Amino acid sequence: MAKEEVKKLVPNGGYPMHTFDDVKDIYYLYISNPEDRALIEKAYLLAKGKHENQFRRSGEPYIQHPIEVAYIIAKLQGGPATIASGFLHDVVEDTDVTIEEIQRDFGEDVAKIVDALTKIQRLKLSKRTEAEFEAEDHRKIFLGMAQDVRVIIVKLADRVHNMRTLDALKPERQIALAQETLDVFVPIAHRLGINNLQSELQDLSLKYLEPDAYKEILKLVDEKCENRTESLSSLKKRVADILFEHKIPFRMESRVKSIYSIYKKMFQKGHSFDDIYDVMAIRIITETELNCYEILGIIHSTYKPIPGRFKDYIAMPKPNMYQSLHTSIVSGDGQIYEIQIRTEEMDQVAETGIAAHWKYKEGTHYNAKEEQKEIEEKLHWFRDFVSISSNQTEGAKEYMDTLTSDIFGANVYVFTPLGRVIDLPTGATPLDFAYKIHTKVGDSAVGAIINGMGVPLNTVLKTGDVCEIRTSKTAPGPNASWLEIAKTASAKGHIRRAIQKKEAEMMREENIRNGRQSVVESFRAQGIEEDQVDGLLDNNNVLAEFGAKTLEDLYVAVAGKNPAPGALVDYLGIRKKYEPDLNKLIKDPSKMRKDDDKSPVNVAGGVTNLAIALAQCCNPVPGDPIVGYITKGKGITVHRKECPNISSSSKRLIDVNWKEDLGIGTYPVQIDVYSVDRPNLLSELLSLIGAHSLTLSGVNGKAIPQNGTCVLSLTVNVPSAKTLEDVIQSLKGVRGVTSIQRIVH
Ligand code: MN
Repeated sequence: MAKEEVKKLVPNGGYPMHTFDDVKDIYYLYISNPEDRALIEKAYLLAKGKHENQFRRSGEPYIQHPIEVAYIIAKLQGGPATIASGFLHDVVEDTDVTIEEIQRDFGEDVAKIVDALTKIQRLKLSKRTEAEFEAEDHRKIFLGMAQDVRVIIVKLADRVHNMRTLDALKPERQIALAQETLDVFVPIAHRLGINNLQSELQDLSLKYLEPDAYKEILKLVDEKCENRTESLSSLKKRVADILFEHKIPFRMESRVKSIYSIYKKMFQKGHSFDDIYDVMAIRIITETELNCYEILGIIHSTYKPIPGRFKDYIAMPKPNMYQSLHTSIVSGDGQIYEIQIRTEEMDQVAETGIAAHWKYKEGTHYNAKEEQKEIEEKLHWFRDFVSISSNQTEGAKEYMDTLTSDIFGANVYVFTPLGRVIDLPTGATPLDFAYKIHTKVGDSAVGAIINGMGVPLNTVLKTGDVCEIRTSKTAPGPNASWLEIAKTASAKGHIRRAIQKKEAEMMREENIRNGRQSVVESFRAQGIEEDQVDGLLDNNNVLAEFGAKTLEDLYVAVAGKNPAPGALVDYLGIRKKYEPDLNKLIKDPSKMRKDDDKSPVNVAGGVTNLAIALAQCCNPVPGDPIVGYITKGKGITVHRKECPNISSSSKRLIDVNWKEDLGIGTYPVQIDVYSVDRPNLLSELLSLIGAHSLTLSGVNGKAIPQNGTCVLSLTVNVPSAKTLEDVIQSLKGVRGVTSIQRIVH
């Protein structure tokens, strides 16, 4: 590190430098168990040893950083594991210590926290500029934090100290870190109600992001405070006198509004500095809730309240549990002040939020799961936070949008009729409310009742509204116009998905219709009537064969041509494949034989006057088991009994048999010879056929070079099945022949 750079820097950013003893002084006040104290001290010693000879950019020994982090945690009254994790949060990332060693020496609790912190740390602010990458990093940070609230506390403390010492970094890193702080850590601190860390982080971010505005506001505030010192102290004295008179216990503080909140009013809402009433406020802290209202009554009867400035956060706490009464009054000298009234407990929650609620309780065992459950009950948004963070189906960008609008942007609190608080962003409608209750409530919403009045779904909700959703089972449900009405990203997501589902259903119905239609047409061509189609297909064999659960699924599949309707025809064996050939056959007089004429076949039952032809698909030869197939108006075709083309047409079958005195005649039969491809194969086969005194009417061959085999298709003219069997047997004896098949077309 360049020395001149160090010289310019103020140690620890100008903040007081703490020692381990300072940290100890704080946690000794509320942690008395010797083992717990020893654990913290051991963590400090390990960090000190391991970070030895490491220095921060600002020049101090590195250990200063974990000490300050642990100090901030102890101020929030964190438990032993949280403080120990504060000391150890950088050792795995920056030294040779492993998570296993942490687990062994400090237990599972500390190991888990440090591990989560290390993983977040490894995402170190990237130099990538693309929003999606950044969103992905942010999602991972949130995801890491959503697991255990103690991880958030340590991470926030870490960031606070890094922001305090940001001067040591290069300007572009300062800006990037400040922006990330505003985008990621401020919303978390706000939602957890850790106000003191939140406003410190905001002010520090502003200092680097808008240095001019920051300096200007700082100057204005200083002037105002100076000018008002007298006015303020006389108001405080007057209020104190009255409260003493009424014998109400109290203590009083004055506070100056944070730079960042003044910045927002001036630069984002366009107010002038003088219009901001609550730059200076008096805070009155008392004992009971009742005291708070008593004090309010006394103040309002003494000073003129500014209309519209009274807020009762006691009756209606903010979602981060903040409770207080706020009012603005005109003091005796005409100045306007804000007055905040709250109990000690409320004050603690106001400053440290979740940390006040879950501050370390001596003697109770920290159960991360139980705590998480309790947090989700107290901070209703936390449940959404956890569930949104673990929903991996969303893109990182959508996740950040949802988080930003639905959780960090939520500042309208609406009640269910049973008193449950639902947080919603500004402009939210009953539709957003409905989807927050349950997806089903959203999908079936038809209207809403707000504070007892029926209203349409696009009504804008206000804080304090009691909202009830009217639902209907026959509701038309989500549609494109709802996307305009809903404001939250989660409601919009549900609506979009519901619309897609509806469209998919409509598409499916159309596919069922189309698929069925093409099956009907295809079956009709095979002589099957429409009313038989469903019956033929709706059985388990067919459905299982084509991987469909229901007949409708099968039709949807057919609509996608997978399977094509022809495949169903083939599977069911209903193809009338040879009918056209048959027609030709029957018209050819040479092949047509009358029962009483030259036909080789007799028809059982004395049926005469019908044309009889041998089927050309299976080429029956005398001696084959045969059966007749009646073709409407055309005659009888004779098939071999095993011919697959007739198997399902039983009604049209008729018994036939070969005539006994057939004389000399031959019948063509195709056989395929599978063989190793070798020289002289064909001539050997042909000479064998010649040896059986048979002739050929066709030879066809195909070589398969890939495996050195071939297929020879021979159409042999045989007089009988017996001769055919003989010749096949002798051909099988030829060297290289592997199998012979009689072909059925
Ligand atoms: Mn750190």
